[in-house]
Amino acid sequence: MTKLSVLVVGGGIFGLWQAFELARRGHAVALREAMPERQTGGASRFAGAMLAPDCEAEGAEPIIRELGFAGLKLWREAYPEVVAAGTLVVAAPRDQADLAHFARQTQGHEHAHAERIAALEPELAGRFSQGLFFPHEAHLVPRRGLDFLVSELRRLGATLHFESPAAGPLWLAASAGEAVIDCRGLAAQSEFPDLRGVRGEMAILSAPDVHLSRPVRLLHPRFRLYVVPWGDSLYMIGATQIESQDGGPVRLRSALDLLGTAYALAPSFGEAQILEMSAGVRPSFPDNIPKIIVRGRTISVNGAFRHGYMLAPAMAALTADYLETGKADSPVFIL
Ligand SMILES: Cc1cc2nc3c(=O)[nH]c(=O)nc-3n(C[C@H](O)[C@H](O)[C@H](O)COP(=O)(O)OP(=O)(O)OC[C@H]3O[C@@H](n4cnc5c(N)ncnc54)[C@H](O)[C@@H]3O)c2cc1C
Repeated sequence: MTKLSVLVVGGGIFGLWQAFELARRGHAVALREAMPERQTGGASRFAGAMLAPDCEAEGAEPIIRELGFAGLKLWREAYPEVVAAGTLVVAAPRDQADLAHFARQTQGHEHAHAERIAALEPELAGRFSQGLFFPHEAHLVPRRGLDFLVSELRRLGATLHFESPAAGPLWLAASAGEAVIDCRGLAAQSEFPDLRGVRGEMAILSAPDVHLSRPVRLLHPRFRLYVVPWGDSLYMIGATQIESQDGGPVRLRSALDLLGTAYALAPSFGEAQILEMSAGVRPSFPDNIPKIIVRGRTISVNGAFRHGYMLAPAMAALTADYLETGKADSPVFIL
């Protein structure tokens, strides 16, 4: 196999996985990221990092579930801190129609009655009579996942440039013979006018009184919110989905929904400390399906929407395969 020389631009979850995949295949990889190392990742810093192909299939095309399971497998092989404990979906008694709808739209679940819910999550005992358990899903702590990929890149000998934004046409950023993989997320909008931002607001709580061991989604007719246990008594509450590329502070209505969801799920969240409330903007194409767009020596991998963590490993493998062999038979390619 010819050793390739590749520049990856952007150190969010797509760029870091891309660089990691190429480096572990033995290629010479350089990464340029605009932000300092401790702040790398735009949208990627605010994710829940659920790897949830079955649940996400509710509102997504089948390709998302397919790539999601491929991504989940690659995460589990590479990263020992993936928590494979599944997902629990519950709804208040008045919202049972939403639960039934969710069950019809998804696969890979088991119906969970009150006793099963209590066995899975004792914290929720007596609170919900009906739920759905998705045993094949997983999650991780996103900022630790980003740190892991950066440390793996160093171990594999990649060259990392932080606080080093690539400017102008990206092929100018490359040296002779180098391929460029553009993973700038929303910053690539000037080249892809149909790339839009979808705002997601989230909160991080410290809640030593709460004991949940897997992501729990609470269905509601107006929103779909969830709680993700990040370990060390930390919980991520997410996420709004608003058609806006405003990355500014969390709005009051969203804060009420996020915190209200946590409290409705488990009243012991009442004593939690609010450590952070932030918004990230998800880079998304009109069909919410990510793309690998090939333009000569520059390949753009973008449009992760709400699935960047789940899909990054599979997208990275497809792009690396293309660079090595020219194979591009997935529908995510635009040649
Ligand atoms: C609240 C919230 C919850 C989410 N939950 C989940 C979840 O549970 N599971 C899941 O799979 N996904 C989730 N997502 C979606 C996921 O976060 C995104 O799909 C993903 O972060 C997009 O990654 P990216 O690498 O494409 O873009 P980004 O993370 O935005 O990264 C782009 C990077 O490029 C850098 N950059 C930009 N311009 C330049 C330049 N000129 N030169 C160098 N670097 C540059 C930026 O600084 C940034 O680091 C969530 C998102 C949000 C907001």
